[in-house]
Amino acid sequence: MTYKALDIQKIRSDFPILQREVNGQALVYFDNAATSQTPQQVIGVIVDYYSQYNANIHRGVHSLSQEATDAYEQARKKVQQHFNAAKLHEIILTSGTTHSINIIASGYSEILKAGDELVVSTMEHHSNIVPWQMLCEKTGAVLKVIPMTQQGTLDMKTFDSLLNANTKLVFVNHVSNALGTVNPIEKIITKAHTVGAKVLIDGAQAAPHIKANVQALDIDYYVTSAHKLCGPTGVGMLYGKEELLKLLPPYQGGGEMIAEVTFEKTTYADLPHKFEAGTPNIAGGIAFGAALDYMNAIGFDAIAAYEQELLDHGTAELKAIEGVEIYGEADEKTAVISFNVKGIHPYDIGSILDKMGIAVRTGHHCAQPIMDYYQIPGTVRASFSFYNTKEEIDQMIVALKRSIAMLQ
Ligand SMILES: *Cc1c(COP(=O)(O)O)cnc(C)c1O
Repeated sequence: MTYKALDIQKIRSDFPILQREVNGQALVYFDNAATSQTPQQVIGVIVDYYSQYNANIHRGVHSLSQEATDAYEQARKKVQQHFNAAKLHEIILTSGTTHSINIIASGYSEILKAGDELVVSTMEHHSNIVPWQMLCEKTGAVLKVIPMTQQGTLDMKTFDSLLNANTKLVFVNHVSNALGTVNPIEKIITKAHTVGAKVLIDGAQAAPHIKANVQALDIDYYVTSAHKLCGPTGVGMLYGKEELLKLLPPYQGGGEMIAEVTFEKTTYADLPHKFEAGTPNIAGGIAFGAALDYMNAIGFDAIAAYEQELLDHGTAELKAIEGVEIYGEADEKTAVISFNVKGIHPYDIGSILDKMGIAVRTGHHCAQPIMDYYQIPGTVRASFSFYNTKEEIDQMIVALKRSIAMLQ
């Protein structure tokens, strides 16, 4: 791999929030798996939109509307290029991962029949479980579950045995938000395709670390949220192969998604607009494009290599503390460390770390089946980004030792 080493101090100066204090301490932000921070380059794009060319898109003849439409469609193009989609209209801009998954789940309610089978992994975020359970209730389809292992990986042998001619869809996250495990999506896709099943990959957690190439991986549907990769909240994307998206009915009715409306019969717009009813998050979409530009300028190879160093350092330091148990030790992981300290509730650790300016997440991380598997109520999760440093990890370790001393 060739890449430039990251200039972390310069990168950190791009993020205004990293300058602030929390509870009288410099902020150490380790909740990147829940949402990432936003650089000035992206904030500036949002401010520029509202101060220079705020207007509704796709409909206006006036200049502002055309400028806004051009910028929004330019962002769609950036998303297409980033994920290497074959066609621009295979990129649907949505309000985020959850919205994207619901578009697909809702569409399949008109396609599936009783007895069809869907396969989901134990390791999913609730947003990649619940829509499918609702779909099964509606259609009589059956949800099968890929089990996980103690190491925090998917049980691929059992996955093989779940696939058969009735399997219609498989859903797996590219990276687990609770454990950081990078799942073998290439194998999963190849195997699912041998029985004719389509695969939806939840890329919400992978997107800030790994650039997925949807054509090379032969991905059927890929979904993600901008706010996990330095973009704003409330915007994300759904990639789908053209022939698959064409088969699905619209998700919502309204403006923008129609070709013609009469009371006798309404016809729907072509892709991507069929799935984009109503005024979208225009500033958000444009900023999503800017966030991809920002991260690509730094480079995903450099980001991955640096985050691996942070992960290795954090893992080694945590393991050296007595009573710490780490959940999820797959060979291939992103920089997420989920852990507990024997005899202490994760919430108590999170609260004390916050008093020392350190933001970690505690709880089930919207992935209760994983917590059930390990028979724990939740974990403390420290998730790192390329703007974090080893020094910040060392600060967390000191703070953690102090909280353990206070709580034991
Ligand atoms: C964050 C996340 C989601 C949910 O994303 P939203 O932006 O809340 O819709 C889904 N799956 C994974 C793996 C995530 O990390």
